[in-house]
Parts: sequence; structure tokens; C-alpha cells
Amino acid sequence: MDLPVAEWKSYLLQKWSLLPKSIQVTVSTAETLSDVFLHSSSLLQPEDEIFLKRLSQGYSVGKDSGAPLFYREEGNKTFQEKDYTVAAVLYSKMCLKDIIRAQTHGYPERLQPKIMLRKAECLMALGRLQEARQTISDLERNFTASPTLADFPSQSVQRNLHLLKMKAQDKENLTETFPVALAKTLEGVDLREENKQLSNASSSVGLCMDPLKGRYLVATREILPGEPLVKEDAFVSVLNPGELPPLHHSLESKWDTRVTNGDLYCHRCLKHTLATVPCDGCSYAKYCSQECLQQAWKLYHRIECPLGGLLLTLGVFCHIALRLTLLVGFQDVSKIRKLCDEFSNKDIPESSNWVKTLNSGLGEIEKNGKIVETPIPGCDVNGKYESNYQAVFNLLPHTENHSPEHKFLCALCVSALCRQLEAASFQPVTTGASSSQLKAAVAPELCPDMTVWGVVMLRHMLQLQCNAQAITTILHTGSKEGIVTGSRQVRLATGIFPVISLLNHSCSPNTSVSFVSTVATIRASQRIGKGQEILHCYGPHKSRIGVAERQQKLRSQYFFDCTCPACQTETRCMAARPRWEAFCCNSCRAPMQGDDVLSCGRRGCAESVRRDHLTSRLQDLRQQVGMAQKLLSDGKLEPAIQQLSWCQHDAGSFLSAEHAVLGEIEDGLAQACAALGDWQKSATHLQNSLRVVEARHGPSSVEMGHELFKLAQIFFNGFAVPEALSTIQKAEEVLSLHCGPWDDEIQELQKMKSCLLDLTPTPVGSSV
Ligand SMILES: [Zn+2]
Ligand SMILES: [Zn+2]
Ligand SMILES: [Zn+2]
Ligand SMILES: [Zn+2]
Repeated sequence: MDLPVAEWKSYLLQKWSLLPKSIQVTVSTAETLSDVFLHSSSLLQPEDEIFLKRLSQGYSVGKDSGAPLFYREEGNKTFQEKDYTVAAVLYSKMCLKDIIRAQTHGYPERLQPKIMLRKAECLMALGRLQEARQTISDLERNFTASPTLADFPSQSVQRNLHLLKMKAQDKENLTETFPVALAKTLEGVDLREENKQLSNASSSVGLCMDPLKGRYLVATREILPGEPLVKEDAFVSVLNPGELPPLHHSLESKWDTRVTNGDLYCHRCLKHTLATVPCDGCSYAKYCSQECLQQAWKLYHRIECPLGGLLLTLGVFCHIALRLTLLVGFQDVSKIRKLCDEFSNKDIPESSNWVKTLNSGLGEIEKNGKIVETPIPGCDVNGKYESNYQAVFNLLPHTENHSPEHKFLCALCVSALCRQLEAASFQPVTTGASSSQLKAAVAPELCPDMTVWGVVMLRHMLQLQCNAQAITTILHTGSKEGIVTGSRQVRLATGIFPVISLLNHSCSPNTSVSFVSTVATIRASQRIGKGQEILHCYGPHKSRIGVAERQQKLRSQYFFDCTCPACQTETRCMAARPRWEAFCCNSCRAPMQGDDVLSCGRRGCAESVRRDHLTSRLQDLRQQVGMAQKLLSDGKLEPAIQQLSWCQHDAGSFLSAEHAVLGEIEDGLAQACAALGDWQKSATHLQNSLRVVEARHGPSSVEMGHELFKLAQIFFNGFAVPEALSTIQKAEEVLSLHCGPWDDEIQELQKMKSCLLDLTPTPVGSSV
């Protein structure tokens, strides 16, 4: 997803391996990125471009005039099956904002109102009122805009529209207007006090520089748990397309009915939306609103639009590299690049890391034509670090750490992209030529000298390996009954956040990150003393991955050896495995100890067993649990409970009570019992699962928050008022350490609370 698709990647790696040794050496020993780029791009042959073009065509993103009818039929099918989410997306895939566009796409005019009405119905059924209202008003506008339609609309369409409007009004009166509440809360969580040295950070945060570890952030005063420390909008972000194989042209798969990230979230602001507004020129880019569509078009999409398939083939990192340069514009890119060149030509001894950091980070800027050294790379003359392009440019590309073939791969992706851009700037864009907007796609500002852009894009591509930040969201997954929801974190987009990039890694961090749209908020997840370093986790967290795997991951992706306290402790006592993956004695349930052969830790118990035996038992058990979860998601509750009870029994004979798999089993049982309406049993199982989560992730972890949220839902649905209220409070406390008040779960908890408080009967005649 980040890197190019597998076929193109292996094609390039093979090309590299077939190069004459002398050329490989030239690329490997090239000192500057310019040299790497120039040497590599001269090796890109026309046949390579033809191969790439063929691959790109597999990711069909062009408009197709037959598609609307196809999507309507598919939409109708899913509508009958009451799968409103998919139906709404399919209707949106053929969403025709106006009659003129409907005609351009060869869509029968008289069918248009029906489709829009259907879409509005789906959105209503899903409770997405704002989007439903938008669709209704679009529909009404069409009636007034098109005289033929105004005469024609069948009575039934008119009547249904009227009914739908009334329904929407009713529902509206019941629910609060969410966007207003959101705007208010967003304002409310502004940082305590603005930082004068560091944009987007609170005044509790200080920027430091150390010869060994480079730039880092510290607490300038005591910080309390939950305190927001950094609130930063992504300088650039690209929606992750989701894991889908390309569509190869064949009759049955000509149009894509699969629903991915790209169909559910706005490509500009990442808002979750079912009524997307598609781009006029391609079938790939979709937006939550006309505003986002126009902004994206103005900023970057007019150049990206004809390149959709190519960008999907080259991967998200290459796409971000391009978008960055488009956002900044050629003027600024080349200015910063020029400074970089001047600097790298200067003779600087690479004796210390300090100098190395400066050298690769352009630690200076131009002032009155003179080069002035600034103490911390990325800062301006006054020593202020801002979330701007200069800061982005200064993020380390780690040129010397990447393998020669990786640099070659990135350089060839970038030069293929450059050649396409060049070609596009000389050719008028022909797709959907009826739109006046598309004529602007001819990019007059594209630089004739593509190599300048190429080198800069290559730098960005290399930077991304260590500096890309995943923008995530919590996806709520529920059984069909939707009574107890599960949740899992999914990656929505990849972005660059210059201030957040200053944070160093710890496998046991003292902060948490959450996102609203493209804005990231970093909060203290625990007390941070004055002078202590502020740390976040780059991915390998101690509660999810063992120390050896973590260290290996950090070394290969981020080029450093982690010495965080968690790594130190775990390395010191390798034998002490965490409780969430420990085995226990078959006869007395005491923890088992040892490496290849495990023996019971209780004195007097002679049990011993080979580790591989237990490992294969665990593997079998995992498979059985997987089968149970499948039953559960298919709504086969009784068989699911049977299977899970069997798994629970088996697990109890060799896994510790806090083993992660036992937690999964308890969680499944809780879901099944809740679906059957047995709230008490469900709560008991969930409390067992909660203990496992607590042992693994800690009592105030975000995972604990999600689990408490589930428990609160169960008590709420079972009308266990006092238990529900106290669990809601606990869940709120834990969740608010990690996310803001606009968070879905926190909002839901508040709704439950006010509902319960309303329900609680006022004591009447207590003297009776
Ligand atoms: Zn948007
Ligand atoms: Zn487009
Ligand atoms: Zn570590
Ligand atoms: Zn024993």
C-alpha cells in the first residue's frame, strides 16, 4: 500500500539485479540524492514504462458511460437485501449531482429522481440525516432546474419525496445537530496556552536538540494525564485506497461493487460519508461535499486526476511525495532545494552526529542572501519551529541507511511519474472534456526541468519510511443484531505532521494520539514530570509485540536500536514472558517456566511438557476460536456458544487465566449472550475479558476504555442502572485520556448517561 504494488516492485528489483556491476556501484556510491536520481532515471527504458502502463490500467479509474446503469441495478439488489450502507455507496457511485451531468453520462433522465430518492431513503435508514437532507435538496433543485422533469415526475416520486421530507424533519427534531456540537467541542479542546517556539504545541512542551538523538520534545512543567500537548493538521495526507487487488478487464468484473475506504471517506478531509460527491474526471476521487471537491481540485487533484491508476500502482508514499510538491508549488520547492544544494556542497566533516543531522537536514536558511546557521534544523531565523514546508523538508531522509536497491526502486517510481507529468503538461486532457473545470487540468505551472521535482520527490519518498504517520479511526463492528459492538483500529490515511515527527519512540509511550478529520491530537496518557521526554509509539507497542520482534522492526524501518525502559527490562529477563502469553500447569494451574521444556513453577508439582507441544495446542485452539467467531458473525448463536464453551474449557487446561486467547473467548461469549438477551451472563463474560485486557494493556489504556464501553452498553441494555452508571463513568475517565469529547464512544456514553438519569424514577411518596 505504501510502496508500489508487488508486480512493479519485483519488476524493478529484477531490473536492478540484472544491471552491470559497474552501474550498480555508481548508484550505490552516489553521494547526493541528485546523483542517485540522475543515475537511476537514465536507466528507465520505454519498455519499463509500457509495463507500468499496463499495470496501471488494471486499476481502472476512468469514467465509463455504462457504469451508472450497472450500479443502479446492483444498488437495487442490495437495497432489497436491506444492506443500506452498500446500497447508498452504490447509488453514490452513480450519483448524478445534476441533470446536465446525467445527460453527459448517457443516463436516462427520467430515472434520475428515483435513484436520488432511493439514496435518500438509504441514508435515512442509516440515520445519516444531514446527508439525506442534502440529497433531498439536490433532488428538489433538479425539479426546478429541468422543466421537462418538473412536468414529468410521476405522482409517486413527488409523494415519496414529501413523505421522506416529513420523516427527516421528525428525526431532526429528536437529535441534536451534531456538527454544531462538534465545532463547539473542537474549539473547547484548544491547547492550554500557545507555544511561542513551537507551533501547534502547548506551552508545556519544549523543543530540544541532542548530538546523539537529534531533535526531541520535553515537558517544560508537570503535565497531567489527558492534557492535550500537540494539535496539528496534517501538512499533507493521502487516503489509503484499502487492500484490493486490481480489476482485470473481464465481463463480470468490469465495474467494481466492492466497498473500500475510498468509497466511505472523503478523499480530502477524511470525513466518513456515504453520499459521496465523485470527481467529474475520474471514478476514483470522491468527496463529502462540493467544497472539498473544489478545494482538492484547486490544490492538487487537477494534476492528479488523469494519473489515478498510475498513482495507485506506485503506492501511497509516491502519491504523498507528488502531492507535497503540488501543494507547495514549484517556486518554493526549488528555492528550498537550491539552499539544500548550496549547503551539501560545503565541506563539512562528518565527525559527529550533530553535524550529520545538520548536513542532511539543511540546518540553515537564507537571510539577505547570506547563509545563516540555525541551532535546530527546521527552525526559522528566530528559532521558531513551524508546521510548514521548511520543517517537512528537514525531516531526515536517512539516505545513507536505505539499501541501494530501495533507493533505485524509489528513484525509478519517481522518474516514471515525472515523465507522465511531463507528457500530461503537453497534452490537453481529454477525459470528460465537456467539463470546463477539466480544461484547467493542463498544468501551465509544471516545471520544464522535471529533475528538480524528481529529486525533491525522491527525498520525500525516502523520508516517509520514518516520518509517515498513519491516520487511524476506530471502526465499530457489530453482529447483525448490533447489540454489542466490537471495535478495531483501522488505518484511514497516511500523512506528514512536522511537529508530531519531533517525538521520539518508546515501546511504552507516555502519550496517545487520536484523530478528527486530518487533525491529530497528542495527549499525555500519564503524568509526565517536568524535564521528562515526551514520547509516542511508532507502532511496535510492548503490549502487542515481544521485545525481539519490536527491536527488529524498529531497526529495519527506523534505523535505531530501541533502549526504552520496556525493551531494557524485557531483554534483561527474557524468560519472564508476559502473562498474556503464558502457559499454566495442567494439574495445578501454576505458571509453567522454562524454555524448550517447561516445568511447573509450584514446588512439589512434577508436571513438565515440551514447549512445541503447547505451541501446537495453542495453534489448534486459535483455529477453533476463529471458527466460533465465524459462527457468531453469521448469527448462529447457539452453535457459537457451544463452540466457545468448548474452547474455554480447553484453554483453561493449559493457558494462564490472563492469556490473550482466553480474553477473545470471553469476549465472544459476551457478544453471543448479549445477542440472546442474557445481559447478566454477558456482563460476567465481559468482566473476565476485561481482566485480560487490563493485564495486557494496563488499567488506563485505550483498549481498556473500549472494553469498558462495551460493558457499559451491556448494563445499559439490561437496565442495570447503578452498574451502568458506574461503568459509564469509568469508561469516560479512561477514554478521555486518549481522545477528545467528540469521540464516538464518549458521545455515546453521554447519551446513555442522560437517558439513564431521565429514566431513574423520582421517588414518589417514599413514606408509604
Ligand atoms: Zn470532505
Ligand atoms: Zn478526478
Ligand atoms: Zn523499546
Ligand atoms: Zn503444577
